[in-house]
Amino acid sequence: IPVDRIRNFSIIAHVDHGKSTLADRLLEFTGAIRENSGQNQILDKLQVERERGITVKAQSVSLLYQYKGDNYLLNLIDTPGHVDFSSEVSRSLSACQGVVLLVDANDGVQAQTVANFYLAFGKDLTIVPVINKIDLKNADPDRVTRQLKSLFDIEPYDVLRISAKLGIGVKAVIEAIIEQIPPPAVNRQSPFRALLFDSWFDKYRGALSLIFIQDGNIKVGDEIQSCHTKKTYNVKSLALLRPQEDPITQLVAGQIGLVGCNMRSSKEAHIGDTIYNPSCPVEPLQGFEPSRPMVFAGVYPMDQSQHVNLRSAIEKLALNDSAVTVEVDSSPALGQGWRLGFLGLLHLEVFSQRLQQEYGAEPILTAPSVTYKLRMKPNKHNVKTGREIFVNNPALFPDFMQIEEAFEPMVVGTIITPDKYLGGIISLCMERRGVQRSATNIDNERVMLQYDLPLCEIIVDFHDSLKTISSGYASFDYEDNGYQSSSLVKLGILLNGVVVEELSNIVHITKAQTIGRRMVLKLKDIIPRQMVQIAVQAVCNGKILARENIRAYRKDVTAKLYGGDVTRRMKLLAQQAAGKKKMRMVANISLPRETFIDVLKK
Ligand code: GDP
Ligand code: MG
Repeated sequence: IPVDRIRNFSIIAHVDHGKSTLADRLLEFTGAIRENSGQNQILDKLQVERERGITVKAQSVSLLYQYKGDNYLLNLIDTPGHVDFSSEVSRSLSACQGVVLLVDANDGVQAQTVANFYLAFGKDLTIVPVINKIDLKNADPDRVTRQLKSLFDIEPYDVLRISAKLGIGVKAVIEAIIEQIPPPAVNRQSPFRALLFDSWFDKYRGALSLIFIQDGNIKVGDEIQSCHTKKTYNVKSLALLRPQEDPITQLVAGQIGLVGCNMRSSKEAHIGDTIYNPSCPVEPLQGFEPSRPMVFAGVYPMDQSQHVNLRSAIEKLALNDSAVTVEVDSSPALGQGWRLGFLGLLHLEVFSQRLQQEYGAEPILTAPSVTYKLRMKPNKHNVKTGREIFVNNPALFPDFMQIEEAFEPMVVGTIITPDKYLGGIISLCMERRGVQRSATNIDNERVMLQYDLPLCEIIVDFHDSLKTISSGYASFDYEDNGYQSSSLVKLGILLNGVVVEELSNIVHITKAQTIGRRMVLKLKDIIPRQMVQIAVQAVCNGKILARENIRAYRKDVTAKLYGGDVTRRMKLLAQQAAGKKKMRMVANISLPRETFIDVLKK
């Protein structure tokens, strides 16, 4: 197929606005799948995706369509559908020249619509605006059209109106894609050069990479080299995804296809890498920042006998998800485990759900944390001032005496809400230390708010609170915005004077008192009474913020004895003392595991 009859595009939309449904309709319309085959949402392959209704891993499909007597090749590149995955959306868009911007006719423009629009706009992509669900009783496409005009300056006559569910207007979408989105600017005569923009792991064939061929061609049997690792490979297989793998012997510039070359690990398939033919070296294509984990959590087996199983489950899943980082970790109370890095809280939840569903592993997850940046004071081992370290595990947070300045990761959050919930949402953002950037009316009853927010304040139930406050009507999206200096402190928990690192927390100084008090009361509730009194304390920078005592059982083991036998009495008292010692040890060092799980569960 000549280059001018190739179109590479994505559908971008807020979650639930109908991206998967439209993708299914496009597949049916072009004959890639049979109509009413009952296989809904073909591109959502993972079980969690079907359950949660969100796309996690980007998939892609090549479609053929006849238009005005010519065959066109339409490559639909699916993008993950949630805020946690915006860096992945961005990389999927690198292989596109245009997008279909899909907006629900009832919900209107939402936070992810805005974020996705700016991603596509920033990459200079052609935007085909489409209002979906016009069949809904409450559909108000005129109003959505006005929103598109006021927010993005999209002209009303450019906006298509469809029902993906009923298949109304789908043909017009395909034709707009062909008419409006330019073909890729590629060169088939130049030496081979391709962008690696996605990859996943296959048990039998190793890492498979999805590539966009910028120049030249690639054939089965060719030698290829990675710009990033400089490793060379032999091309074992090439395929189009339609959506099942359709083997092919050659791919040419402008096409998107799957390459198998016996890569042992998905770490070798570096997303954003340029691959080329080692006999004709080329300039690397403009890559993109690989996605960076933002949220970290410890993962431990329920008991150490499950350690081996859990390890192999984590390894397998991480192979398939290059955005997850894995490091070995251990804790006195929870044993051997790992510290994993995720793109966001949803990514973490999806990963742990997949561990359970696909591998039957039941791990314990510790409270999530972000990565703090610390500038250390000079000391005798470290003469240089201004040394910077990064810490994502509260247990490893250094003593405050050693820290010169602390920084925390920030985001810019976008919230779209009906204006009647404005008051509650502004309070929530303030409580989470947010600073308002702007408030804009997008029509006569909806407002778009932008806030600077600390990442750590939104990773735990910010989204849920927002939904509760707004009866589900507010939407939220965020984007990474670097580090900001902040008064952070380590909130430690002491049991009878001994620090329990698994329960440490990094908090803003203004919140230390409240959180410390809350944790102490909670632990008082959870920890069972024992033979000795247990003092539960929250400490911060060497000061005690809160304290509760868990009273001991009073048991006089000699009460039942009638004076008499002194040696027996002594023996019993000695036993009781030994028991106390053991208990103290339990209280100080290894509390019952359930205690940690209960506290961490929140
Ligand atoms: P995604 O999250 O953007 O992939 O959205 P889905 O395609 O999963 O659709 C979300 C929900 O909206 C599903 O229940 C669909 O059946 C429904 N839906 C999608 N398109 C339409 C439409 O045109 N009309 C109506 N009434 N419902 C639709
Ligand atoms: Mg979907």
